[in-house]
Amino acid sequence: MKIDVLGCGSAFSLRQNTSAIRISDDENNQWLIDCGPTIPRALWQRRLDVNAIDAVYFTHVHPDHCTGLTALLNQWKSFGRSKPLTIYSQPEQRPVLMQLASLANWPDIDLCFAIDWQDTQDAWTWCGWQIQTALSQHEIPNRAIRITQGEQSLFYSGDGRPTPASVALMHNASLAFQECASLEPLANDASHGDFPGCLALFNQLALPALGLYHCYDAAIPSLENACLAHAGLFVSKDGLQCDLSLTNPVTGVSAF
Ligand SMILES: [Zn+2]
Repeated sequence: MKIDVLGCGSAFSLRQNTSAIRISDDENNQWLIDCGPTIPRALWQRRLDVNAIDAVYFTHVHPDHCTGLTALLNQWKSFGRSKPLTIYSQPEQRPVLMQLASLANWPDIDLCFAIDWQDTQDAWTWCGWQIQTALSQHEIPNRAIRITQGEQSLFYSGDGRPTPASVALMHNASLAFQECASLEPLANDASHGDFPGCLALFNQLALPALGLYHCYDAAIPSLENACLAHAGLFVSKDGLQCDLSLTNPVTGVSAF
């Protein structure tokens, strides 16, 4: 399984794309997780085939995680995508996404490809991928996701502080990404992660690799500094490339 970090910025970052990743396997099955406003261009810069992405999974529908959907679907329509697209979301949040999708080809109704709207479940399988999701602690319901394929597993938190349920999905992950807004501890009822909490999880779970992301711009230098003492703990970057078949899954940063 390969991971392409399209963006790892916070909602209004001046330096980074909004947070999203692209996942692919050896058969070139591909998922996009989240699609904020700067993600369509990040995808276009990669010059992917218009049919490359099979499914989009939304952790939640805050604007920095979903408003790129309109432009992405519009580009796929403009360049003749033919493959059906699956969109996974929490059922209560789907009306927001359907509005974004309807704008992609307004005032016409249909795109030139079908969209298969699917409810996010606690667990399901897709093309040999084992998917599990769990709620984090966030302003609106956010479902963290774990994808397992054979011996390889990825955890991606979406937004929010870890919960016992989301921490359970991090266990034995080959690579985990956890939202971490700040270096300083935040209140227990806050809706974002913080460095002390992430470091505690990194140590308790003995994670081989934990990437912090969705950090406030101003916090990034101090977070990078704080990670230096902990091999495997790092602040994620736009363009980071990871290959879960490797012992050290982070392989480098690509500029696009
Ligand atoms: Zn959010």
